[in-house]
Amino acid sequence: MSTTAREHDIIIVGGGISGVALAYGLADRGRQITLLDGPTATDKASRTNVGLIWCQSKFAHLPDYASLAFLSARLFPELSRELSEVSGLEIPVNYRGGLIPCLGEEEYSSRADYIDRLRQVLEEYPGEMISRSQLERKLPAITFGPEVTGAAWCEADGIIDPLALLRAYKVALTRVGVTTLKTLVHQVEPLAGGGYRLHTATGPLECQQLVLAAGLANRRLANFAIPDLPVHADKGQVLLVERLPQVMPIPMLGVTQTFGGTVIIGFRHEYVGHDTQVVPSAVASEGQWAIRVWPALGKRRLIRTWSGLRVMPKDSQAIYSRLPGHPGVTLVNTHSAVTLAAFHTRLLADYLLGGELPELARKMTLNRFGFAS
Ligand SMILES: Cc1cc2nc3c(=O)[nH]c(=O)nc-3n(C[C@H](O)[C@H](O)[C@H](O)COP(=O)(O)OP(=O)(O)OC[C@H]3O[C@@H](n4cnc5c(N)ncnc54)[C@H](O)[C@@H]3O)c2cc1C
Repeated sequence: MSTTAREHDIIIVGGGISGVALAYGLADRGRQITLLDGPTATDKASRTNVGLIWCQSKFAHLPDYASLAFLSARLFPELSRELSEVSGLEIPVNYRGGLIPCLGEEEYSSRADYIDRLRQVLEEYPGEMISRSQLERKLPAITFGPEVTGAAWCEADGIIDPLALLRAYKVALTRVGVTTLKTLVHQVEPLAGGGYRLHTATGPLECQQLVLAAGLANRRLANFAIPDLPVHADKGQVLLVERLPQVMPIPMLGVTQTFGGTVIIGFRHEYVGHDTQVVPSAVASEGQWAIRVWPALGKRRLIRTWSGLRVMPKDSQAIYSRLPGHPGVTLVNTHSAVTLAAFHTRLLADYLLGGELPELARKMTLNRFGFAS
């Protein structure tokens, strides 16, 4: 298949949660949008995550980035309603806040210090540390282990079914005129007269403007402009516990009940390249932690384990940037792309069309790594 630049006005590479959120945001701007997505062995974060819309643990040392999560969380309820309407699909959501359980006094006080710092940098903070008895009142159907001292509580957090969200975006894209092609992009070639040629598994495609939203694959796709994009694989491994009655009206970080009733356990961060093997000793330690929090889980069956590679910029902060020497190419890489999906849809379209970044994201370009973007 060979097509002309006119036929593909803007191409977005990557149909994970970042790519679909960006494509949907661009859809009503009178431009022809084509989304390319090809299955790869490792770029599956959008299909392996927990679906938390999480604000309270990112990041006291990066105030703008912390604020971005809160902003996106505020935009979510209206977006999820719209996506449901446009796609005709139900998206299970729970916007009732979130909890981080603490084991022991030391962990409780270091979490309290962290929340204090977050409160100072954000000035306004919709949450607080709560005692064990307050935690028990929030989750009365769970009997906590004796070491649980309390929790951090934040009312801005929530959870969404991540696969339902992805599916709803994809169906909605077909309804708002975005073309989606299933194909793997092998290489991006800048053209002498302007524009870009994408060499794909199904032949070359050309476009004037390109958005790289292919997760870890952005490293390879952007290497015509940046030989070593500062984005790395951060491996997570999780356990899935059999279906239980619904007992978690507010999601907990690290041990989270899904909308289907199963419980996902896991919080590890490992830097082991693109290795996606599940390591029994690693998931066992996560399981042991979860049983200390919620002992009844120890009597339940494990039904699955899996791993996923988070897309982690070197300094943990999102990257929204043009590529050096290529104003026609925008790159998006974030490690919390579910949380940030509403921001990506609602507030990034102008930037993708050549405008300015929203104020909060202005310092999130590749300039901070020494690249001229
Ligand atoms: C265990 C785990 C739990 C997590 N929990 C949460 C959470 O609770 N909340 C949260 O906000 N985030 C969470 N995350 C992080 C979140 O999943 C990622 O930030 C998000 O999935 C990144 O999305 P993405 O679209 O940028 O990249 P990806 O999910 O990697 O998607 C990239 C897409 O691009 C496609 N692609 C790749 N290469 C090519 C190519 N050459 N040509 C065409 N297509 C290509 C891939 O097939 C894929 O569809 C979690 C991650 C893990 C691993």
